[in-house]
Amino acid sequence: MKVTEHIAQAKDTLISFEILPPLKGKSIESIYDHLDPLMEFKPAFINVTYHRSEHMFKKRGDGSFEKVEIRKRPGTVGICAAIMNHYNVDAVPHLICGGFSREETENALIDLNFLGVDNVLVLRGDAPKNETFFEPHPDGHRYALELLQQVVNMNNGVYLEEDLQEGVKTKFCIGVAGYPEKHFEAPNMQTDIAHLKRKVEKGADYIVTQMFFDNQKFFDFVTKCRDMGITIPIIPGLKPITSKKQLTVLPRTFHVDIPDELSTEILKCKTDKEVEEVGTQWLIQQSRELKQFGVPVLHYYTLGKPKVVKRVVEAVV
Ligand code: FAD
Repeated sequence: MKVTEHIAQAKDTLISFEILPPLKGKSIESIYDHLDPLMEFKPAFINVTYHRSEHMFKKRGDGSFEKVEIRKRPGTVGICAAIMNHYNVDAVPHLICGGFSREETENALIDLNFLGVDNVLVLRGDAPKNETFFEPHPDGHRYALELLQQVVNMNNGVYLEEDLQEGVKTKFCIGVAGYPEKHFEAPNMQTDIAHLKRKVEKGADYIVTQMFFDNQKFFDFVTKCRDMGITIPIIPGLKPITSKKQLTVLPRTFHVDIPDELSTEILKCKTDKEVEEVGTQWLIQQSRELKQFGVPVLHYYTLGKPKVVKRVVEAVV
């Protein structure tokens, strides 16, 4: 079922989760172990992230180094199929521009369509870890907007080959990303939301936001989106803080602020257990307030912390 259908039919705030594919070489059981404790909450859908190759340097026998491309977390499409089969729940694969050609993307979309996947979250992706700027694949897309157009084209039966303009019409419901604290490359919030609006005008069905720790930033973002004529559902992305290190890692990686009240409490903690408790209670409060605000879905980035997310959801539903 499409995410938008879940939302339209819901009588209460829905719950959804986001997971990462395991590192290459690990089994699907690691995904089930991760998700099993969360399935009692009957998530409306489960997102599976998509990962590009990273550039690495491998030592040759003669001591010199060779640049290689390694995709550490492949398997998004297969995991979506496995999750749907194992739990009978909708899976939402992420698709990214970075590192993929249009044809590779088309092939992934064809696989997803055959597997009965109804949703995709389309994203640009970031530069590989050791590069500063995002560079598109020579035959790929520069912006999520272009990837979105490719999915919309397939929904209209239009494929890449010039003589394949009346193929099977896929029916993907399309999600896109939004940033309550602005995307880090955008010159300002107004411009960022204007770009978001173009994705909506091209056919995006719903928005999932970057994580945030201050609900007011989300409320202001929703207001700005609505003022600029964006009417589709906006789903908050939520993550628990569970270590002191995250006070610096999360702002650096995701370009989000940690409110003073939260960071002060975390810095007072003496053990990881105490940090986890502060992060859990903070996320419970955030979730309750967002539910009251009337968000359609509470979307949790579980990222290795299913037990914490379980405590949060237990306290919220
Ligand atoms: P875009 O919408 O393309 O925007 C990128 C930047 O370009 C923005 O600053 C925007 O304002 C600007 N822009 C857009 N259009 C134009 C234009 N026409 N001209 C000039 N500027 C423009 N990354 C992964 O690699 N894998 C994942 O699975 C993944 N999942 C994510 C899930 C969520 C919910 C979120 C919020 C992010 C996720 N990311 C993931 C990270 C994401 O790929 C990065 O944040 C990326 O930097 C931007 O992606 P986007 O889709 O928002 O890009």
